[in-house]
Amino acid sequence: MAPVQTRDRIGGKDAGRDSVIRTLSRILPRRAQTIMDPLDLLVVAPHPDDAEISVGGIIAASRAQNLRVGVVELTDGEPTPHGTHEKRAAETAAATEILDLTWRHNLGLPNRSLQADLGARRVLAEAFRLTRPRVILAPWREDAHPDHVAASQLCDDARFWAKLSRSDLAHERYHPPMLLHYYSIHLRIHPAASVVFDISDHIEKKMNAVCAWHSQLIEGRPDEHPTVIDDIRDRARYWGWTIGRRYGEPLTNREQVGIRRLDDLF
Ligand SMILES: [Zn+2]
Repeated sequence: MAPVQTRDRIGGKDAGRDSVIRTLSRILPRRAQTIMDPLDLLVVAPHPDDAEISVGGIIAASRAQNLRVGVVELTDGEPTPHGTHEKRAAETAAATEILDLTWRHNLGLPNRSLQADLGARRVLAEAFRLTRPRVILAPWREDAHPDHVAASQLCDDARFWAKLSRSDLAHERYHPPMLLHYYSIHLRIHPAASVVFDISDHIEKKMNAVCAWHSQLIEGRPDEHPTVIDDIRDRARYWGWTIGRRYGEPLTNREQVGIRRLDDLF
């Protein structure tokens, strides 16, 4: 019955079989992609290691709550001094398994020359529509790496486009209700965080995921203290200190964070 109903809907009973098949082949893949349970949290990472370095603890804490967490990488991050596509693929798989991510995808945009242009906006908006996250974590715009600056703008633009009706974007329209920013490590600034997430119970998992990026953070780097790995852990300790906990990760929200109970503050 299903093929007949589909055929009638698409072309009427005079439509030829080949025509129907051609039509279905255009429609079905797009519809199939929409069959996905929404994510609770989606991290937008300009490069494959950014999510683990900046918010690996928030990801681990959220998965421990059984929330659905995804990472969308904008570029493959290569070339780098010690990386290869093969190493990156293996490291991505390892980090994904450690954090037990629900979903991970790479959009294949150009590394080192990422632009907040219309083509990039389209593919990221379609990723937002596909995954329908309740919260997006995006890179903060104040950064030394041009890809991160572009990615920050791109997240705002794609979030806006994702809600548009009467567009030719794939998937149903969707407006992600909350977008917060995380900080990367290229610029030695002290960010004005508006939220610090307590990751004390998840610091070891975060660091295991960070160390999965061996070609980026360990290989070919000096091994005396403080290493890059030490720096990442020590920053988490510092942010934990700011809220009276052992470890934390800072976020900024340009809009307001609403609460419903006084103990949401503690
Ligand atoms: Zn990056």
